Amino acid sequence: MKTYKIACIPGDGIGKEVVPAGQQVLEALAATQNSFEFKFTSFDWGGDYYRKHGVMMPEKGLDDLRDKDAILFGSAGDPHIPDHITLWGLRLKICQGFDQYANVRPTRILPGIDAPLKRCKPEDLNWVIVRENSEGEYSGVGGRVHQGQPIEVATDLSILTRAGVERIMRFAFRLAQSRPRKLLTVVTKSNAQRHAMVMWDEIALQISKEFPDVTWDKELVDACTARMVNRPASLDTVVATNLHADVLSDLAAALAGSLGIAPTANIDPERRYPSMFEPIHGSAFDIMGKDLANPVGTFWSCVMMLEHLGENAASQRLMQVIEQITADPSLHTGDLGGSATTAQVTQAVCERISGTQETVRRAA
Ligand code: ATP
Repeated sequence: MKTYKIACIPGDGIGKEVVPAGQQVLEALAATQNSFEFKFTSFDWGGDYYRKHGVMMPEKGLDDLRDKDAILFGSAGDPHIPDHITLWGLRLKICQGFDQYANVRPTRILPGIDAPLKRCKPEDLNWVIVRENSEGEYSGVGGRVHQGQPIEVATDLSILTRAGVERIMRFAFRLAQSRPRKLLTVVTKSNAQRHAMVMWDEIALQISKEFPDVTWDKELVDACTARMVNRPASLDTVVATNLHADVLSDLAAALAGSLGIAPTANIDPERRYPSMFEPIHGSAFDIMGKDLANPVGTFWSCVMMLEHLGENAASQRLMQVIEQITADPSLHTGDLGGSATTAQVTQAVCERISGTQETVRRAA
């Protein structure tokens, strides 16, 4: 029996509710078969840890994660701690420390979800956005001098390296190639940003030659927002820089019906380090501790985690169950206009997972 070591980092806000829900679902899946099991280790890092220790996670915290097969993350954010501290002190520390350079965000309109684009059929919106996750606008290079003075200067430098762009382009082309439509859109802004983004375009063209069966096009980021709304079916796999994809993927999540559903994976494609899986929503302090959080984004993140671990059958089974759950309006949480609780949705998912197995056993 294979044992997967999973680090759980609930973090802040509703992360403390949805990560345990994700663990329950993974346990339920493992219980239906005897080829793998999970060994979970939880870490109490985040805003409360910061209040006690002055840091979001311990200095040598990455060493505690290094031997894990994957990380299940909740969210980092606290109304009493500046956002740049919560973000850089925990989530980005892990993403950058483990060189998880590919951030992958699938978006679909799941069954039963009332998405805002009335002319868009569910099958028209089936995207995967690949976000460059290690450099670009969030490289962390910059500074502030003469703070508070009229002559104050502040810079955030966007850094693109040939090595960084080549690896994310290759990852995106490979992902596009693995999907039925073999279609990639490279998002750019090389009309206005005439150095790094021009290199980005040139490298896209260079890498495209390695993937002759992938059809690809280029789109300016501003035009891409309009295209997502007006011509969603013209997109499939999308690759963009850190900032561009950050914005586009929130739009994508909203167009698919709710922030509470969307998952993301921070992948180290070379598998030197554990990859990290998380819902895209934040800490949502307004609803924390009330059993109101939609756990589906976390469950879908677990689907991505299982796929990354090579457990494709379990991954597909969980995705099927998620779709059964979203198709049932009595299991919609408040963000979807329903009144189901986090615990009810989690229980329904676990029961269906066990039920599926029961049906399979009976049929056999
Ligand atoms: P952060 O500052 O950590 O990014 P936030 O609270 O500003 O978090 P989000 O958590 O991304 O922002 O979400 C915005 C709002 O959407 C929340 O305040 C909440 O009302 C709603 N929301 C987000 N995620 C969920 C969820 N999983 N279930 C239900 N509602 C959600």
